[in-house]
Amino acid sequence: MASRKPASPASRPPTTLDTELTYLKGAGPHVAQRLRALDLRRVRDLLFHLPLRYEDRREHVALARLRAGAPALVRARVVAADVRYAGRRMLRVMLDDGSGGLLLRFFHFNDAQKTNLTVGRWVQAYGDVRAGGSGLEMVHPQYRVADEAEALPAEDGLSPVYPLTTGVTQTRLRDLIARALDLAAADAELNAAIPGLEGATLAALNVIHRPRSDQDARQLLACTHPAQQRLIREELLAQQLTLRLLRSRLRERPAPVLQAAASAPRELQRVLPFMPTRAQQRVLDEVAADLVQPRPMLRLVQGDVGSGKTVIAAAALLAAARAGRQAVLVAPTELLAEQHHRTLSQWLTPLGVAPAFLANRLKKAERQAVLEGLADGRMPVAVGTHALLEETVRFAQLGLVVVDEQHRFGVQQRLALRDKGGAHTPHQLILSATPIPRTLAQSVYADLDVSVIDELPPGRTPIATVVLSNERRDEMVARIGEACASGRQAYWVCTLIEESEELDAQAAEVTAARLREELPGLRVGLVHGRLKADEKDAQMRAFQSGHTQLLVATTVIEVGVDVPRASIMVIENAERLGLAQLHQLRGRVGRGSEASQCVLLYQPPLGDNARARLETMRATTDGFVIAQRDLELRGPGELLGRRQTGEIGFKLADPVRDAPLVPALQPLADRLLAQQPQRAQQLIARWIGDPERYARV
Ligand code: ADP
Ligand code: MG
Repeated sequence: MASRKPASPASRPPTTLDTELTYLKGAGPHVAQRLRALDLRRVRDLLFHLPLRYEDRREHVALARLRAGAPALVRARVVAADVRYAGRRMLRVMLDDGSGGLLLRFFHFNDAQKTNLTVGRWVQAYGDVRAGGSGLEMVHPQYRVADEAEALPAEDGLSPVYPLTTGVTQTRLRDLIARALDLAAADAELNAAIPGLEGATLAALNVIHRPRSDQDARQLLACTHPAQQRLIREELLAQQLTLRLLRSRLRERPAPVLQAAASAPRELQRVLPFMPTRAQQRVLDEVAADLVQPRPMLRLVQGDVGSGKTVIAAAALLAAARAGRQAVLVAPTELLAEQHHRTLSQWLTPLGVAPAFLANRLKKAERQAVLEGLADGRMPVAVGTHALLEETVRFAQLGLVVVDEQHRFGVQQRLALRDKGGAHTPHQLILSATPIPRTLAQSVYADLDVSVIDELPPGRTPIATVVLSNERRDEMVARIGEACASGRQAYWVCTLIEESEELDAQAAEVTAARLREELPGLRVGLVHGRLKADEKDAQMRAFQSGHTQLLVATTVIEVGVDVPRASIMVIENAERLGLAQLHQLRGRVGRGSEASQCVLLYQPPLGDNARARLETMRATTDGFVIAQRDLELRGPGELLGRRQTGEIGFKLADPVRDAPLVPALQPLADRLLAQQPQRAQQLIARWIGDPERYARV
């Protein structure tokens, strides 16, 4: 039998930053297990688990001075406490500090809480103050109880608030992080300077995790403190390093040379019903120049709604097919995939390249036939949803992937494609109608080349936009009726009531029924996300063919749907939507030669921000102007959701707010990669986590 050594402190190696959290004092196997959910495995990881925000608990606010709508720290005596049944069981605790009163309410409570919060005791509570039925109140505040006021002091510095996981409290995390900071004090790597950035990382981390009372709280709360700015730069630098590394590794791989790319646009021209615009021509050339290289193309094409990005995709698909390779186009929804399939069939089938279609709704046999055709190479071009990129789909020799509306297509997805083409890595072309300011594109798409279609096809008459109160809905309905009777087609868009496809679909059904009643004789269609694919398809076809005159729709039609004859759009409750979404929706009209109208109906009263959004929509149709305005109105972080921004979750940096910092970091990133690759790897590991996850290219 092997002898088991007793676990004495002497036999254990000393705790360092590389020690696993199981062995950290104050953590242990149980807590360590839970911390793994936050991607925290070693002591070092704790240092980079940064506060989401701070709470200011440095001063007790007198109850008489509380204001609804803001958080506050209070300290007062319990003057009454009871349990009431008012619909729900609830514990009510009345506080008084001599200046005024405050009600604490708890819907979830246990006996210990009930016996703790008794008359005469002192309570320190922190929470959001709100106006209740009988004065100000806090619901489920954080609190402590004591017999003496002195036992409940306010805090010295700001309190950091960390992302949590079940079973680990803020207090526990703060203690563990403090321990990690102490262990880091002498760490050479964290104290070393980073070329181009002032100061050391560790000093900044100390300020951020343990703000001292004399530190500028206002700056920390606004995220403008020099220590925060220092770490934001470092994080953005790490992101640039990662994207650059990934790009250069991808570009080292062989890609098929598609010689036919040079002649594909000309060949396509034979079947196109129009001439490409100058901007389209330029982008066609840029794409063709990429495709004849033996390295994978990594190109993003940005072009406002209606600028004609599909032509670029078609030429690239044709080039691949002519070069004897396979190509796929993936779209974010089935509706869009079907539409692309129709358009591309019109153009490419006469050239002998009939595109296949793959989506989840296909019958088993149909699906099987497509899968076989792709696997044995008989099918050169396929159009579909992201189902096309699933692991189970095999290709004989995939040479090109075109991704339409890239919102859900980040770094990870780009990497996943690298082995799809066998010995070769497929070229990647990403189409996006989300206009983003140039500095932001540099930050988020640092691994892509960018082409811009900055011109709309000729003959478009500008869309006239009006903003109307819901009170004038009847008038609007009558006008739609007249317009449709005279041969025009219109969209009626119902906006999300909640983030629920189900409710959304119901609301659209109700609206459609009501419009059918109000406009008898009009052919009213309906599409929403809950329809079966073939029903949806039938509805869209009926509208596209001109049979349906008025199409009631949820925001499912937001992206890419193209019916040039539709020239009126009504958006109900437009105040609920963001600018980017309104712009996308409006882009569905104004595609033909007829003058188009967009009516934004709103439910009064309008807030300032909503008013500004609707006014922007009324004043301009330029996607880049709208994107800029969106940035100003919505503030940082919301333009692109965090998850959409390259899929590297940021801890502190905000790719929108901090975009102006990026250009100065790019030369730093280049220099670091060339001269100190080890150091670059360290920074990537520090911020992006396990480098293997990203760097295994
Ligand atoms: P996007 O995908 O950029 O929003 P589409 O490719 O769907 O735009 O094109 C919008 C509409 O404009 C389509 O009906 C398309 O056939 C048409 N179109 C594209 N390019 C031109 C052009 N150069 N001249 C005229 N019409 C065009
Ligand atoms: Mg499109």
